[in-house]
Amino acid sequence: MADILPASIQHAQEQRAQAEALFNSIGEGAIATDEFGRITRINPIALGMLGYKERELLGEWFPKKIVALTDQDTPVNLIDRPITKAFLTGKSATEKMFYRKKDGTVLPVIITVSPILLADRPIGAIEVFRDITLEEEVDRMKSEFISLASHQLRTPLSAIKTYSHMLVDGYMGEVTPAQKKSLRTIITATNRMNELISTLLNITRIESGTINIVPKTLKIERACEEVIKELSLAAADKEISMTLSQKGRGTTTVKTDNLILKEIISNLVSNAIKYTNEGGAIRIEVQGRPRDVLVAIHDNGWGIPKASHDQVFSKFFRAQNTVKRETTGTGLGLYLVKGLLERLNGEIWFESAEGKGTSFYFTLPKERRNTAARAASSQK
Ligand code: ADP
Repeated sequence: MADILPASIQHAQEQRAQAEALFNSIGEGAIATDEFGRITRINPIALGMLGYKERELLGEWFPKKIVALTDQDTPVNLIDRPITKAFLTGKSATEKMFYRKKDGTVLPVIITVSPILLADRPIGAIEVFRDITLEEEVDRMKSEFISLASHQLRTPLSAIKTYSHMLVDGYMGEVTPAQKKSLRTIITATNRMNELISTLLNITRIESGTINIVPKTLKIERACEEVIKELSLAAADKEISMTLSQKGRGTTTVKTDNLILKEIISNLVSNAIKYTNEGGAIRIEVQGRPRDVLVAIHDNGWGIPKASHDQVFSKFFRAQNTVKRETTGTGLGLYLVKGLLERLNGEIWFESAEGKGTSFYFTLPKERRNTAARAASSQK
């Protein structure tokens, strides 16, 4: 009979119908493109999320029609779009970014693009993306909660601290040496708690992008001197020497936020004190270079085991050799320092050998580089 299709054609049509049904039933937005990045198929969920009709998208060049934005509201470079990465590497790529909808509003999304390979050559790609508005909102509420709770914890803490100081200084009558010792322990604990609250607050500010930067022109060694003064008691307790020197003759002036800079230096120097044996030595060097200022903090302490080097800046990381000897610590300091430096356009790295010592290095750009970066981003 004429209306009976040959088996191979019927099989191909069945397969196509199955693929179509599968594509349309994906519970997230899905877009398929050909090897040139032109949209060949788009499922109803994607259309609903982006506010387009199918005919407005089919055949269009995907990266141009669906504009992706960074969290700074600037368009994502073509080279950084997951679809480009998938085509270039032949592997799937996942990114979080924002899509501009047809009505101009933006939608936070997690995108995964997988290339369709035929004999190792990409002949197209399939992108699946998910609306993460709700997750972002939960994240924001979590940050808000931590921020509020931290502020509320500070008030009773400052009362404990003030009265402990008054007691230890004898303003409320004689105290015995044993009582004094206990009061000092209370003061040390409240100081540590205050630091922890500051760290938590700073982390939520970094993670929610609400950290306030007030740039001022300053010399980096001034900030180092102030930190050394603040930490001199802790160093003296362990008979650790601290020296500050300038390497070379380059200017060490930068335009940056003094409080954040001091927070960075303070974290690195207090780590050096904490993880160095009594009688050790800490050297802080500042070097003005053509494009940036380099700060190095060298210690001859316990060092970081090689196997842990790639985790050092991760949240809550504490190395095995230190956990055993020094119980106080949260593993949040270096995570915070890295986040703060990113906000100041700086970089951080380290060298360390277990049992020998550690050197942390960070750079802050001189103003010229900031101007160049601004010019480059405005050309995008
Ligand atoms: P914390 O000091 O509260 O544990 P950090 O994030 O500041 O958290 O540091 C993470 C870990 O990195 C530390 O627990 C320690 O194991 C290691 N570390 C950091 N600085 C040094 C240092 N100068 N010498 C040796 N180990 C260090």
